[in-house]
Amino acid sequence: MKSQHGKTVINNCRLFDGTGSAARENQALHYDDGVITYVGDAVSQPEYDVQHTRVIEDPNFTVIPGLIEAHFHPTYFNVAELEDLDIKYPVEYVTLLAAANAKLALECGYTSARSGGSLFNIDVWLKKAINDDVVVGPRLVANGREICGVGGLMDWNPDYRKIGMEGLVLLINGPDEARAAVRKLVKDGVEWVKTYPTGDAAAPDANDHHTLCMTFEEMHAVVETAHNHNLKVTGHCRATEGIKNALLAGYDCLEHGTFMDDETMDLLLERDVPVVPALYFELASVNKGPDFNLPQSVIDGHQETLDGGTESARRILKAGGRIGLGGDYGFAWNPHGDYAKEISFFVNYVGFTAEETLMCATKTGSEIAGSSDLVGTLEAGKLADLLIIDGNPFETIDIMEDRNKFYAVIQNGIIKSGYSLNS
Ligand SMILES: [Zn+2]
Repeated sequence: MKSQHGKTVINNCRLFDGTGSAARENQALHYDDGVITYVGDAVSQPEYDVQHTRVIEDPNFTVIPGLIEAHFHPTYFNVAELEDLDIKYPVEYVTLLAAANAKLALECGYTSARSGGSLFNIDVWLKKAINDDVVVGPRLVANGREICGVGGLMDWNPDYRKIGMEGLVLLINGPDEARAAVRKLVKDGVEWVKTYPTGDAAAPDANDHHTLCMTFEEMHAVVETAHNHNLKVTGHCRATEGIKNALLAGYDCLEHGTFMDDETMDLLLERDVPVVPALYFELASVNKGPDFNLPQSVIDGHQETLDGGTESARRILKAGGRIGLGGDYGFAWNPHGDYAKEISFFVNYVGFTAEETLMCATKTGSEIAGSSDLVGTLEAGKLADLLIIDGNPFETIDIMEDRNKFYAVIQNGIIKSGYSLNS
């Protein structure tokens, strides 16, 4: 990915560095050739050559680290029912949609993203296209086809339809097939392996949110094989038993972590495993479900998931655990472009402070993405991936949802989006 050449100074701004400190007024940030060289009080900033420096200055501007979508599905598109994921479009069209979604995410302030699972093997190649500046998008951490037990949540087509699921999921029976699936993903070049330890409210009959879709032995085989090849493992974990299995099997992250009891909470904190709740999706499913003809049993399941997930997220944060923010966007009632609704939801509904929420959406996201030495906080030596907001999200968090208020979305020091490009 290209870097900016030259020096930029953002002067006299409000700044939130993502390290845990509150936002401060009258700050300055300098970056040179795309690398941050100074963050601190404007009065004590180093002198700079005004002739040869781009200066951005407005006391109403707030500078924060670029946002990180920790559960991004660039290949999901307006999914109204699960079947839309596997047979609606061919790989050629899904690839174009994924590139468009990546651009949109960047425009929404997301300079990095960790994928939560990919159709076909598109993430790996989308990542290359972004890194090679062929298309714009967040710095992407690639996932691949997802792994699920036969008959589990992602195996919805009955055998008589004779529909292959090879573009979507690798279906396994037993630890040997689990190992074979991971080995295929190793060859595909993914960085994370996404699994389905549990079901979901979306499938209320055979695979609801309290069922298991993989055995502990299968999950353990996935982790052993993935870790051997330096891949990380995460899983769709709703049911308590599935969360416990994932933590005992050595998972690196939990998606959702919905129904946690004291035992799973202790295990989680002991291993300091991050959780990405992706919770606004549940509220959207409850509120907008009737418009999309979701059965009442599905809506009821999403309500139970929303309640359980909200309680777990509060407990995790309070106990000092790590939460990443990502939202499973790409469904008809939770479309791409709405990413920051996860942020305002965590403030307005779950009750996190704006500072806590934005730290989850930046610093913790970078830890999950494995890039915390490069991005995620605003500190000297890190890359200039940042967002300049025309307004104060610590007064009005909803401003994060309005990309018309973004003066600049900056990656490697280059302004990639924002209204400054048109003014
Ligand atoms: Zn997902």
